[in-house]
Amino acid sequence: MAHDRIWDEARRELAGLPGGRGLNIAHEAVDRHAAGPRRDLVALRCHRRDGRVETLTYSELAEATDRFANVLAGLGVGPGDRVATLLGPGAEQHVALLGTLKARAVACPLFASFGPEPVRARAARAAARVLVTTPALHRRKVAPVRHRLPGLAHVLLAGGEPGATGAGRPDAGTLDLASLLAATPAAWTVPATDPDDEALVHFTSGTTGTPKGAVHVHEAVVAHHATAARALGLGPDDVFWCTADPGWVTGTSYGVVAPLTHGATNVVVEGPADPARWCRTLASAGVTVWYTSPTALRLLARAGDDLPRGHDLARLRLVASVGEPLDADLAAWARRALGAPVVDTWWQTETGGIMVATPLDGTAPAGSLGRPLPGVEAAVLALGDGGRADVRDGRVRPVESPGAEGELALRAGWPSMFRAYLGDEARYAACFAGGWYLTGDLVRRDAAGWLWFVGRADDVINTAGHLVGPVEVEGVLHRHPAVAEAAAFGVPDPVAGEAVAAAVVPVPGAEPGDALRAELLAHARRHLGPGVAPRSVDFVTELPRTESGKIVRRALRRAAGAPSPPPTTGGAAMTADRRDRPAAGGDAR
Ligand code: AMP
Repeated sequence: MAHDRIWDEARRELAGLPGGRGLNIAHEAVDRHAAGPRRDLVALRCHRRDGRVETLTYSELAEATDRFANVLAGLGVGPGDRVATLLGPGAEQHVALLGTLKARAVACPLFASFGPEPVRARAARAAARVLVTTPALHRRKVAPVRHRLPGLAHVLLAGGEPGATGAGRPDAGTLDLASLLAATPAAWTVPATDPDDEALVHFTSGTTGTPKGAVHVHEAVVAHHATAARALGLGPDDVFWCTADPGWVTGTSYGVVAPLTHGATNVVVEGPADPARWCRTLASAGVTVWYTSPTALRLLARAGDDLPRGHDLARLRLVASVGEPLDADLAAWARRALGAPVVDTWWQTETGGIMVATPLDGTAPAGSLGRPLPGVEAAVLALGDGGRADVRDGRVRPVESPGAEGELALRAGWPSMFRAYLGDEARYAACFAGGWYLTGDLVRRDAAGWLWFVGRADDVINTAGHLVGPVEVEGVLHRHPAVAEAAAFGVPDPVAGEAVAAAVVPVPGAEPGDALRAELLAHARRHLGPGVAPRSVDFVTELPRTESGKIVRRALRRAAGAPSPPPTTGGAAMTADRRDRPAAGGDAR
C-alpha cells in the first residue's frame, strides 16, 4: 500500500465502510453522501437522447444501486462474480456499475461501439456471469455470439423498449431489468470489502495477443479521489462532465467514480458526438469542469468559434484533456473559444487514474504533458534494441541526458495500479522491472523536469483516444475467405488523431478491386463494430516482415504517410532508427 501525503489525505477524506469493514468504491461514491447532508443534492444529471433532462439525488442513487445489488443477489451473483455492462453513458450504467460494486461483484464495462466479436472476446476472457445491456445492443451484438458464451448465465436488458423482439416480449434468454428492480427490496448492506478485493476489469489492447483485462481493486478509489482533486481541482461544488464512454477506463474512474466521491454533480450525456449539443449542455447544465479528449476538441474547433461563442459558458472554469496528444495550437484554441484554462492529463487503463498532468496554475510549457502528480514517481528509461526499456537482469537505467527519449516508467505501488491482466500472469509480470511499471509510452523529460510525449513504443492504434489492437482487427480480416494475409496499423487522421487502416494480401484468384475492398470493410465493420473496424483497405502483394516473421507495421504506417517520430535530443536519432528497423524483439503488452 503506497503511503504518500496525497494518498493518505484522500484516505482520510474517504469514510470506509461503517464498523471498520473495509473500503468499497460504491460506498465512497454514493452511500457516504446519501447518509449525510448531501443526500438531497443532485448526484447525476442525465441528458437523455430525446432531450429530456433527468436528475437523481445521492439518496435516489443509493436506493437504485441498493436495488441493483439485491437483483444480483437474487440471481445468485455475489462477491468475485463478474458483471459486464454494454451500455453507453446514462443513469443505467451508473446504477449497474455501482450496484455491482455494492454486491462486491466485479464490474466490467464494455465499449458500446464494439461489434459482436470484441464483445464476445472480452466477456469470455472476463468469464462474465451477467451482462447488462439494452434491447437494441443485445439484438445486434450479444444475441449473435451468446451461444459462444456458455458461462454467461444472465442477460439483463436495461432502458429502451422493454422486450425487444416484437410483441412486447423480452428477447429469449434475457430478463427485464426495470421489472426486476421494481420487485426487489431497496435495502442493502454492502458486505465487508477488503481494499485489495477485485472491483473493476477494464479491457485495453496491446500489439500482440488477445485484449488485456486490467484488474483494479477497491483501493483504486483513493487515487480516483486524490487525482481528481489534484489534477482537475474537483470539489463538492463542481458540476462535472466527462465525455468518455464508460466502456473505457476514463469513463469509469472520472465518468462515474471521482465526481461522486467528491459529492459533485455528475453530468451524463447520452447520444452521439455532436459539438452543438456539447455547447448547449455545457451552458444549460452549468458545467464547471469538462474532461474531454483532443478528438472532441478538434471536432469542436472544426465547427467554428461561433458555436461556443453563442453559449453562456461563464461557469466553465477548467477544460481537461486525456487520451491522445494535445497539441499546443488546439489547447490555445480551446482556451480562447471556451474561455477556460486547458490542462492535459496522461494516464492509462493500467494506471487506473491520472499520473501526469499540466498543473492547474498554467505554468507548464505549451504542448508538454506536465509533471507526475505528487505521490507518483516517474522515470524516463533508456531504450534497448526492441525500442522498449532496456531491461538487463531485471534492472533498468534512466536515460543518460536530459531531453533524451526513453520509456516512461512509474514507481510501482500507487493505489490504482492494476493488479493483474486476467488470465495472463506472464504478460503482467513483463510490465514490471526493477520496481518500475513500464508504460509502453515514449517520452522526453527536459532539464526543467517537464515531460513531453513522443509516441507509443508499440503498434497499438490510438483512434479518438481509444486503443485498438492490430491483432484483433487482423483476426477478423483473416476470417474472410478472400484474405490470405492482413495487417492493421494506424494512419494519421485530422479528427481522430489516428484511423485504423489495413493492408491485405488477397488469396490467389481473388480480384483485388473496389468490390472486394467494400466487402472487406463491411465484413470488418459487422464483426468489429465502427469504433474498431478499418476505415481503409489497401491491397498488397506481400507484407513487410522481420526475419523472424513479425509484421513491420511501422513500415506500413510510413508508406501511408505517417510522420516520422519528432526530433529529440541526445541519442534520439539513433533511437528512432532502432525503432524503425525491423527487429525481432517481443512486445509483452
Ligand atoms: P488507455 O489505456 O486506453 O487509456 O490508453 C492509454 C494510452 O493513451 C497511453 O498509453 C498513451 O499512449 C495515450 N495517452 C493517454 N493520455 C495521453 C496524453 N495526455 N497525451 C498523449 N497520449 C496519451
